[in-house]
Amino acid sequence: MALITISGYPCSGKTRRAHQIKAALERRLEDPSYAGPQLKVVIVSDDTLNISRDAYKDSRSEKPARGALFTAMQRAMGQDTILIVDAMNYIKGFRYQMYCAAREQRLRVCTVYVVATQDLVKEWNISRTDGKPYVQETLDNLLMRFEEPSSMVRWDSPLITVPWLDEDIPADDIWKAVTEGNVKPPNAGTQAVPKAPTDALRALEATTTAMVAAIMAEQAASGGLGGPVTLSLPDDVKTSVALPARSITLSELQRTKRQFVAVNKKAITLGTTEKGALDWSEGSIAQKFAAYIEENIRP
Ligand code: ADP
Ligand code: MG
Repeated sequence: MALITISGYPCSGKTRRAHQIKAALERRLEDPSYAGPQLKVVIVSDDTLNISRDAYKDSRSEKPARGALFTAMQRAMGQDTILIVDAMNYIKGFRYQMYCAAREQRLRVCTVYVVATQDLVKEWNISRTDGKPYVQETLDNLLMRFEEPSSMVRWDSPLITVPWLDEDIPADDIWKAVTEGNVKPPNAGTQAVPKAPTDALRALEATTTAMVAAIMAEQAASGGLGGPVTLSLPDDVKTSVALPARSITLSELQRTKRQFVAVNKKAITLGTTEKGALDWSEGSIAQKFAAYIEENIRP
């Protein structure tokens, strides 16, 4: 039915808010005046999956943790469920991936941004009552890497922000988003979606690989000045991309590429895509990957 993605700093009160949301939704679902379908409210979190705080120590151990969260989330999503994903969800690309997964299942979505200042979360980390604090260094690191949700991008909206001073959550807004919000355009099932060409997967891999190489070459040539550049790819494909004014590392680019490929691979194999975007030509893939890089590579 719906996916509620929580996002926020470590120790910002996400779990506390998740339980407030769950309780508020259950109250409404049990109210005699509620005439909608029977729904259950489920929370998936690091704690429910037994993922230790140590997993966030470095990106190598974080990856499988994020994978486990994504798998659990996909398993728990459904038409009879309001799913709350209580985790930091601090990577834009990851939120995008969850959004795509929710859309495939035709769920309503909303993002709840739990806000507290960095000073407060450091304080609360020390005084946590569940005995599961983050190591100071990990906490600092996460605060630095955090990619704030934005109401301007479709995968974070509607965005509901809950500041630390608020005693309660804006239950009406959340209820509205999960029961009345737009279900994004229908996909397979109700509409005949043309299957992507069988070589779309190959084009996806080859084009993104070529772009990673072209960006690395461009950076080596310019010394990482950034700004808009035109990349020449095989088969006379050209695409422009705005690069940040710093050297992007190869591993950073490859990570971004893998995220992009994973998301789109799914779309290709399921035959579901963004509205109107059924074009898996090299040029179109290059354009999409360029946009994805601009949105997901830190400035
Ligand atoms: P998270 O899930 O983001 O790690 P928790 O909900 O587990 O955060 O809260 C972490 C700690 O911070 C808890 O000990 C909690 O009591 C405290 N805390 C959370 N939100 C607030 C708040 N708004 N005001 C005061 N203390 C808070
Ligand atoms: Mg928590």
